Amino acid sequence: MHLSADKIQEFGNTEAITCPKCGKSVYMNLLKATNGIGVFNVSLVNINTDLFAICPECQSLFSVNKDISKRATKSKSNNFTMVNEKNITFIRELK
Ligand SMILES: [Zn+2]
Repeated sequence: MHLSADKIQEFGNTEAITCPKCGKSVYMNLLKATNGIGVFNVSLVNINTDLFAICPECQSLFSVNKDISKRATKSKSNNFTMVNEKNITFIRELK
């Protein structure tokens, strides 16, 4: 996995959710993009969010639903636990 520290930051972990790709129960890593473009060699220009989830099992990258992303990143509490398999969208595999 290639992470660019100046562009993204670790944001936390989800609760145990079922990965839509590999079907395993995982705690996905949440990453917040701070400049909005070019993370993971994926153009984020057309992806209307700045919060991403990565499955530690299959290395799939998901975008987090815009509304959830907005609420989670604005709050100082652990609202990223509201991220689950119903509000993430598969983008690509990172491996
Ligand atoms: Zn997975």
